[in-house]
Amino acid sequence: MIIVVSMELDYIVPESTGGETVAENLCLACAGCNAHKYNFESGIDPETNIETALFHPRRQSWDDHFCWSNDGTMIIGLSPCGRATVARLRMNRRDVMESRSLWVSVGWHPPVDAQ
Ligand SMILES: [Zn+2]
Repeated sequence: MIIVVSMELDYIVPESTGGETVAENLCLACAGCNAHKYNFESGIDPETNIETALFHPRRQSWDDHFCWSNDGTMIIGLSPCGRATVARLRMNRRDVMESRSLWVSVGWHPPVDAQ
């Protein structure tokens, strides 16, 4: 089985709402997460039901807002921002978790800098 995850250039602040094409406003996102992000800049924290700004990968630290489940297949939101981002981008979709499981089995995942 070959699993290909295509990456896309994402506008952190969407171009449709005035986001500029500058490095500060661009990041890589997998096609699935990018599609679910669409032109949103916020999401609902499922724990509090409060609308919260999505994670900003250029200004915030991944480790402050997310961690991996013990088996390395699921991203867990640690903060309102992290939980809202996991929910909005549906970061734990079944296909992605199956890919992560395979990556774990060959030692590619989770990334060393995100543990
Ligand atoms: Zn993704």
